[in-house]
Amino acid sequence: MGKNFSLVILSLLLALNILAWIVVFDLSKIQPLEVVFFDVGQGDSIFIETPKKQQILIDGGPGSAILEKLGTEMPFYDNTLDLIILTHPEKDHLAGLLEVLKRYKVENILWTGVKRDTLEFKEWERKILEEKASIKIAQAGQKIFAAKAVLEILYPFENLAGQEFKDSNETSIVSRLVFGENSFLFTGDIRKSEEKALLEQRANLDSDVLKVAHHGSKTSNSKEFIEKVSPEIAVISLGKENSYGHPHQEVLDILEDYGIKILRTDQHGNIKIISDGKKLTIPNF
Ligand SMILES: [Zn+2]
Repeated sequence: MGKNFSLVILSLLLALNILAWIVVFDLSKIQPLEVVFFDVGQGDSIFIETPKKQQILIDGGPGSAILEKLGTEMPFYDNTLDLIILTHPEKDHLAGLLEVLKRYKVENILWTGVKRDTLEFKEWERKILEEKASIKIAQAGQKIFAAKAVLEILYPFENLAGQEFKDSNETSIVSRLVFGENSFLFTGDIRKSEEKALLEQRANLDSDVLKVAHHGSKTSNSKEFIEKVSPEIAVISLGKENSYGHPHQEVLDILEDYGIKILRTDQHGNIKIISDGKKLTIPNF
């Protein structure tokens, strides 16, 4: 009896020891999430890599620059992207995705289905059908789970597939990426009217990092919206000496008034932000 009892204790101690060791081992394996705002000139292209190396690309910028950018973030043998998202079908977001579709195998595509009468758009429609990817139309309320990260779709509120707009900026997909205690808000080129609608709908906007809407245009980025997002870091994606005068001083003033750190692709190049689920690090700054 006494011998058995001590054996039980011994195996219990062994089990505890092993368990403790496994816990330590797991902790050492926690991988970060990376978000890279590529410097693609006047346009947007954002690369997300989850801890399980799932790769998501939001927009592709205005041309083929995206291919070289992806090459710096992905190993040469990896030619698969798990998900691409087209926020809206304007050239400065769409054209680069056409190059990506030529070069990479894309598993999933999320877009609004909003139509546009341009050559790039026609090529987009043709290419996504050829790709045989799983295609979904974005709508508020959808959630994409990737490793421990969640991408929540906040806008558009309705399915807009097949509709045509004079200006498709107003149809941009707005999404919020949550990883542990960190969050990122991606706004495409929404205008002040969509920002107002999101505020009225009480969308959960609060985020650590804000991708400033429409390349820092003053027709977007109201004080009320920025206040609600209350980011620590604002990233502006735009080209050097662009013809639109982006970013507008009014927007820079609002961000500065709130003490938000401003990072710009035209000044800083690619901007990589790493999250361990608790804190953000920006390796190059
Ligand atoms: Zn744009």
